[in-house]
Amino acid sequence: REFAEISIKDIDQIAKSSFPLCMRHLFEKLREDHHLKHGGRMQLGLFLKGVGLKLEDALAFWKAEFSQRVGSERFDKEYAYSIRHNYGREGKRTDYTPYSCQKIITSAPGVGDHHGCPYRHFSEENLRAALGKMGLSNRAVEDVMDKVRNRHYQLACTLTFEAVHGTSCDAGINHPNQYFSDSQKVLQS
Ligand code: SF4
Repeated sequence: REFAEISIKDIDQIAKSSFPLCMRHLFEKLREDHHLKHGGRMQLGLFLKGVGLKLEDALAFWKAEFSQRVGSERFDKEYAYSIRHNYGREGKRTDYTPYSCQKIITSAPGVGDHHGCPYRHFSEENLRAALGKMGLSNRAVEDVMDKVRNRHYQLACTLTFEAVHGTSCDAGINHPNQYFSDSQKVLQS
């Protein structure tokens, strides 16, 4: 099922209600630091493309943040290209697809990076805090941590989805964009 395009004015609210934790984290860091390193720009940028953010809106969205940090001229010179590139408008004109959970979980974020899967890459303390912020009960947090300890990161994400939406997700989570569309289905039903 296709979803309507998302617009920039709704994006904060949609991030809160329907982004999986990996994308919420990148989104919040971008809002906070007005910057993301390459791995984060790719992971979040392709996800946003996947949820229906149009190229023009994507450029405006990233520019509004990055300009506060590096100025709009430098944004146009150094960053706009890679966003158009993600949308297949530059270089080989490949239409890049959003990353799957498998790809994100096996990525290797370094110091200062915010991409990756929080269930795999956060410290226990940070993960607990993030889950609390998403509104999970202590009981639900313990269930998630149990999956994490057994390295079942996608199951941990599935349990989070179920706790946040108050419904079961039998297929399990295997793609951030699937998390998003399943969430929208629940919220719009
Ligand atoms: Fe993102 Fe997938 Fe990790 Fe969930 S399991 S946080 S959707 S990478």
